[in-house]
Order: sequence, then structure tokens, then C-alpha cells
Amino acid sequence: MSDLSRFQVEAEAWGISLGTRFELESLVQPSLRPLEDFTEEDYNEFEFRGRVAELLGANGLIGKAKRYIDCARMGFCLECEGEEHHRFFSPLYCDLRFCPRCAPRRFARLFARHCRALEYIRRHVVRGFRLREITLTSINTGSLSADQIKKFNKHVKLTIRRLMKSLRGWGAIWVDEVGFNNTNLHAHVLIYCPYIAQERLAAVWQLVSGHQVAWIEQSHVFGPKALLHLLKYVSKPPANDPKIIGMLEVAFHGTRRVHALGLFYNFAGGDEDGEESEWQTCPKCGAQLTLIKGQHSVRELRALGLEFIGFFKIKGKNKKWLN
Ligand SMILES: [Zn+2]
Ligand SMILES: [Zn+2]
Repeated sequence: MSDLSRFQVEAEAWGISLGTRFELESLVQPSLRPLEDFTEEDYNEFEFRGRVAELLGANGLIGKAKRYIDCARMGFCLECEGEEHHRFFSPLYCDLRFCPRCAPRRFARLFARHCRALEYIRRHVVRGFRLREITLTSINTGSLSADQIKKFNKHVKLTIRRLMKSLRGWGAIWVDEVGFNNTNLHAHVLIYCPYIAQERLAAVWQLVSGHQVAWIEQSHVFGPKALLHLLKYVSKPPANDPKIIGMLEVAFHGTRRVHALGLFYNFAGGDEDGEESEWQTCPKCGAQLTLIKGQHSVRELRALGLEFIGFFKIKGKNKKWLN
């Protein structure tokens, strides 16, 4: 039995929340942050994370639940292969889409990645093309499932492809979004393309998806600002209710939330959803960074005087970390 399932069984038997059970564990495990160091804010966060983790666990996502509850409490030590063997520490983030700590990190990575396409567009203007914003909405069914999201994304992709048909030099990026604390699934699309009439967009969307509502307008902001505007949806979890956060994580498990087509796809280097870390080399000397085996509490790593470095993820080595 994994730690988490054991904690779940015990929490239930003892009539306490999973968050509290984890906290009790921190009393007996000196490597975890001791309870007396907890501020009220920490406590609330822990309680919230515990409730989300309960839901993830109940849906079979045990690994994700543990990552979510432990986000940034433990970390790795990294050493560069350069002559001076620079050492750093990297917190072990959960990297879940709807983690309040990890969502802004994901946003920053996505912004850096997709800015390249905008830079290209700025230098290779196509006559009559503009950055435009499209919103495609679906009927609110009151719940969200992975199947529903996958189907929705397929419809978005098909709609854009149909509208762009034989055109060249276009690009689109979209973010799946839900309304705050609800299950209203819709897509915000930033697209570089010629004029599309509102009626045509709505007709294609209805034909492909069966849904009624779609609209388009010319972007009011240009270049990176337009991308910032689009990606802001990724930077903050769309709920403050742990039940909804849990449901979203379960529904988006194994499914991407950010998608790219055309130019945006070409510049994303196979990582549209921004999973890879930027930190692969030493920021001091440029040598390759390697991970020193074993995890330690972030407090311990700080106490060793190690410098903080962003999230480090070895390419292709975290396959079991299915997001
Ligand atoms: Zn996190
Ligand atoms: Zn170095």
C-alpha cells in the first residue's frame, strides 16, 4: 500500500481530513516541515491541498495526489559538471495545471515558448492577416470528463483547419477554459489569419461541434501583449473550491489544455503545453546539470546554503509524471 492510500485509510478511520493526516506525519518525520512552523496561511493551503488530493486519490490518481499535497516541500540537489561543481537546489513542484503555485510557472514557460511565433509574425507580415481572438463555447453539461474535453478539442482543431483550408502562413493557439467555479467549457483562440465573417465562423463551429456560440474579433492588443492576454487563463486556477480543482485535474488528466496549430505549432518544438524546464545547464558556467540522487526538505537544502534554481526536469525521464 502506498503512503497515500495508507493515509487515506487512516484519515477515514480516525475521522480527520487527509491534510491533517499529512500534518500529523510531519510531526513524526523530521524531514517534513514541523507543525509549529506553520503559519495560518500554510495551514489553510495545506487543508485545501488535502481536500484536492482526496479527490485525486478517489479517482485513482494516487501519484498526482501526493505530488499536489507535497508541492515545493521537498527538493533535489543539483550539481554542474563544470570544473567548479556549482551546486543548486530545485524544489520538487507538483506541476499540476491547477496548482496555485505551479500555474504561474506554467504560464511563464508557455509565454516564453510561444513568443517565438509572434516574433516571426512581426518580421514576416502576410498581407491582410491580423491577430484575431476567437471564442468557441460548448453547452454546459454540469460536469467535465476527459472524453468531453478531448472531443471538444478535436472540434476546435477541425473548425480552425476548415476555416484556414489552403491558406499559408497562418497560426493559432488556444487555451481550454472553464468559468470561475463552474463547468462551462470553452476555448479562447488567438489566431493569425485573414478576415473571417462572424456568420461563417458560427456556421462552421455548429456544423463541426453542434454547439451554437462562437465569436471573433480583431485583437485589441498586438504582439506579445495579445499572447499575454490569452495565456492569463493559464496563470491562475479557475476555482477556489477544492472540489472543482479536483474535478478539473481529473478531467484534464492526460489531456493538454494549451494547443497550437500552424505557425504556433511549428515554433513550439513539440511542447505546446510547456512541460519542459528551461533549466538544463548551469546558470553560472553553462555546463550540464546533473541530479544528485535523493530528496530532501526544502528547509534543509536552504540551510545548506544552496542557491535556488527553477524547476529541473530531465527530458523524457519523467514518463510516469503523466499530466
Ligand atoms: Zn504545484
Ligand atoms: Zn557550473
